Amino acid sequence: MASDTNEPIARPPSVDALARSIAHVGLPHPLLVDAARRAIAAGDPSRAESIARDTADALLVPVINGTGVIAHTNLGRSPVAVRQDARAQNLEFDLRTGQRGSRQAGIGRLVALSCGAEDAIVVNNNAAAVMLVLAALAGGRDVAVSRGESVEIGGGFRVPEVMEQSGARLVDVGTTNRTRLNDYRKAIAHKRNDVAMVLKVHPSNYRVEGFVEETSVHELSSLGVPVVADIGSGLLDAACPWLPDGPPDWLNGEPAARQTLAAGADLVTFSGDKLMGGPQSGIIAGRADLVKACASHPLARALRPGGLVLSALHHTVLAYLARTATTDVPFWRMAATPWSVLRTRAEAIVTEAGRGVVADCDSLPGAGSTPGASIPSAAIVLDGDRLESLRRATPPLIARVRDDSTIIDVRTIDPGDDGVVASILRSLD
Ligand SMILES: *Cc1c(COP(=O)(O)O)cnc(C)c1O
Repeated sequence: MASDTNEPIARPPSVDALARSIAHVGLPHPLLVDAARRAIAAGDPSRAESIARDTADALLVPVINGTGVIAHTNLGRSPVAVRQDARAQNLEFDLRTGQRGSRQAGIGRLVALSCGAEDAIVVNNNAAAVMLVLAALAGGRDVAVSRGESVEIGGGFRVPEVMEQSGARLVDVGTTNRTRLNDYRKAIAHKRNDVAMVLKVHPSNYRVEGFVEETSVHELSSLGVPVVADIGSGLLDAACPWLPDGPPDWLNGEPAARQTLAAGADLVTFSGDKLMGGPQSGIIAGRADLVKACASHPLARALRPGGLVLSALHHTVLAYLARTATTDVPFWRMAATPWSVLRTRAEAIVTEAGRGVVADCDSLPGAGSTPGASIPSAAIVLDGDRLESLRRATPPLIARVRDDSTIIDVRTIDPGDDGVVASILRSLD
């Protein structure tokens, strides 16, 4: 006999009582009530707890990235340390004059300096950057794009569709594998076309090999219309002056903002959260008059980032300018950690956990950049597929499986979490 109240025996539990009975799941009461209601509606009150746990699992939480993919698209791309307190911020306030200021001016100048541009603005992501450039510089007009670059980057970024949304018209140039300067010339000279600009798109995560030819930014800059290069990954400078040993091998061939502008691009667009290692954002950098045209287009207001993003981006760009990116930008801190250091950390974790073996593995930069490139790393290897138990840990540890072994790459784990990883491994069944 469960109770001595007057409740009829067969009646389903009250929503409220059921919600209280699963309070240990640790969600705010209205979410427990929702789970209880749904379980009762489904005719199975005993499922309330598992529904509540599904809700808890869908909450945004920090996780430990043991995948070895540094800017992992499903894990929020580049990890960023957000430093902002609850104070107000001079987001649009000029501290010298006490007058209204611009949220773009300060960050624009920093980004411009970091990549050799005249000016820059920041929007919510690179898709927004491309869309804004097209709308502001080519709305109602034509944009010449090589057929080899009319690509889908993933996550729904498809060049023809972005073009259509922007109000610009796509003019296909050349062929899928070969596009020459003369193809662009003909497209611009064609009397049915009204070409406002040339857009060059870095295919990022795919590659055409063999009988291929593309036209360089330098050649395109002779065409007499603005050249906009969507370089995607956001490498600021191919010389990597923030790395003590200069550019690593795995960066080979990745286009960089500074060199693309120096080669003659009028604007570059790129993501802030790929190789740049900042928060989700998109950057438009280059000629001051063109940046200004983008900034004053009505869409710019709809695509502008908030203070949280801008302060994280400030912090990121200042680290590049101060040459402290290998300590202050987590992406580069992880990318630049020597293999021997990772190996030592992996050994210490295995010793402390009393479980697993250390093996070599390959990390990836991620976010669709540098296809095919990998960085030698060290991993903790467990027998069998332990992905689910690791995901159930607090905080969740995300790993990968290969050949029926679970591989936890140490490169993408913050050293401050090594002890946490060891205790997660120790407590596995
Ligand atoms: C990643 C990428 C995009 C999309 O950038 P988001 O920041 O995800 O919007 C667009 N173009 C290129 C070339 C890319 O690599």
